[in-house]
Amino acid sequence: MSRPMLETHVVAQQLAVICTDRGQHKRTRLTTVTWWRPLKGNEPDQRDMSAVGRHWDAPSANPHGSTLPYEFWCGVCRRNTQVTADRWWRLAEGARTRDMRDLDVSYLD
Ligand SMILES: [Zn+2]
Repeated sequence: MSRPMLETHVVAQQLAVICTDRGQHKRTRLTTVTWWRPLKGNEPDQRDMSAVGRHWDAPSANPHGSTLPYEFWCGVCRRNTQVTADRWWRLAEGARTRDMRDLDVSYLD
């Protein structure tokens, strides 16, 4: 997220997106989901995922109009996990609700 966010929002919660290849290697962080709360007003929280290290790709519309899944890849085990946007945000919001600190994508496929 761009810098102006830091002047208008505070971090409400963060979720580390990790891979362990189902317990086969040590925790490797792929990205971080951050929920931002506005300092003023009643706007809903906004969320984003850090692109540092480029371990994931956002879905984009393909020429046929359907939406491609999120894609996460791990440099340690080469696992490539694809998750539809609907499922991904349902999982992330669920993890946030349960106050989880991390979400291991190697268990998703
Ligand atoms: Zn891995």
